[in-house]
Amino acid sequence: MADFDDIDLKTTQELAEDIRKALKEQEVDIKASKEEENDGETEVIDKSDIIVDKPKSESEDNNKDPHYEGFCFVCHRPESVTGKLIHLPNNINVCYDCMQKSYDALTSGQIDINKILKSPGMQIFNIPGIQNMNQEMPAQKKIKRHKEGEEKAALIDINHIPAPHKIKGMLDDYIIGQEHAKKAMAVAVYNHYKRVASDVSDDIEIEKSNMLMIGPTGSGKTYLVKTLANLLDVPLAVTDATSLTEAGYIGDDVESVVTKLLAAAGNDVDKAEQGIIFIDEIDKLAKKRNAHQRDVSGESVQQALLKLLEGSEIEVPVGSSSKNAMTPLTTVNTKNILFVCGGAFPELEDVIKERLTKQASIGFGADLKDKYKNDKKILEKVTTEDLRKFGMIPEFLGRLPVIFTLEGLGEDMLVKILKEPKNAILKQYQKLLALDEVKLDFDDGALSAIAKKAMEKDTGARALRAIIEEFMLDIMYEIPKDDNIGQVTITKEYIEGTGGPVIVLRGQEAAG
Ligand code: ADP
Repeated sequence: MADFDDIDLKTTQELAEDIRKALKEQEVDIKASKEEENDGETEVIDKSDIIVDKPKSESEDNNKDPHYEGFCFVCHRPESVTGKLIHLPNNINVCYDCMQKSYDALTSGQIDINKILKSPGMQIFNIPGIQNMNQEMPAQKKIKRHKEGEEKAALIDINHIPAPHKIKGMLDDYIIGQEHAKKAMAVAVYNHYKRVASDVSDDIEIEKSNMLMIGPTGSGKTYLVKTLANLLDVPLAVTDATSLTEAGYIGDDVESVVTKLLAAAGNDVDKAEQGIIFIDEIDKLAKKRNAHQRDVSGESVQQALLKLLEGSEIEVPVGSSSKNAMTPLTTVNTKNILFVCGGAFPELEDVIKERLTKQASIGFGADLKDKYKNDKKILEKVTTEDLRKFGMIPEFLGRLPVIFTLEGLGEDMLVKILKEPKNAILKQYQKLLALDEVKLDFDDGALSAIAKKAMEKDTGARALRAIIEEFMLDIMYEIPKDDNIGQVTITKEYIEGTGGPVIVLRGQEAAG
């Protein structure tokens, strides 16, 4: 015991007294079994000793919010698991078990926590959690409270799921073309939420309608999913498959996509469990042909995604992207989460052509060898067999039963995208200038000149905004200078750099 000679026992006792005081202010149920376990060596906190601590700072309202559950600062289990929590200052909650353990450790007289915390050694070690003892708990690290016996609230009422034609109708307002994709998606989403809402466990289990979207860059894959989630008012998480790696390697492990969804749902587990996860660039996970190294970002990520796609309980950190000592954990079931995967799948066309040509060259079709060479709609003929050849593993494809394609956008489609959708880019600029009481117009030549420029960039509709922003900068800068300007018409010449916009002054508008 010589080692403990210089320990200041008084300080220890003071600290123990502090904890006892905190406990006194909090009413906690103590299980009878705990008392039985007490063999006299450890002191069990007596129920009558405990009273409630009053919150001291405003942010302690975390504890009061009826929609969120507290969690233990030490073991990170939520209140529903630990039993009633003891509230300490600075928004810190501790469960009874952990409080008892620390109390025992202190009262045994062997530890002087004050001395340990203040010692220079402690600062060197920088132990997570310890240095935060005096900080407040960030407000976003909260777990939504799940009331006991409460049925899981269905976000979407089975009687009010919009029928597929209505879903497509809503999408039509925002998305130009892509008729097949919108139709396929509307049906799949309708079936999915019907399945979620009627979650009865009988013999006939409706299969999950996870989707795979195939289409070139900028054809509206992400936009389609975003619009859909907005219209249905469900949370959405968008992730890039290239950032995912197998657990244990540098990068995000696949479970991080569920964390993202939980954040999008405001840490409400029920809401997240009915959300949508969109994984872009899924084609980058294709099995590498002739790979000699361990494939940590491709095939193994497909493998890791299987359990999410199928539906399983995932333990995820709340309010943070990584599991660490400061983050509470909660469990999210992915059974009712709709997964949508998207990718450009370059070279998939060659795989399809090869298959079709092979089929055609058997027997009488032998003369049709070049039939598919210039077929623009070749991608629509995709089968799971082609995707397997491309490098997707069969188990993965098996969990994405709805597969559809999006077309590459032509010039006339791009012109329509510029002016027709509800929140079209042109409408946005027109609204901005209307606030300055200036009327903005684009003549037809200007629109097709913009579309032509976008086509050259080969990034679909994505290029449109960048091109418009480039020349609208001058317009937006110059127009407010002169109060007399009443109308601006953007011309083809202006876009091509051979002329300027047509400007009409206020008095002349009516005449013109
Ligand atoms: P992808 O995910 O296929 O690469 P995005 O969905 O990100 O492409 O599209 C980029 C942008 O182009 C979107 O934000 C949207 O404004 C526009 N866009 C693309 N396709 C369409 C479309 N069919 N209708 C309307 N806007 C579109």
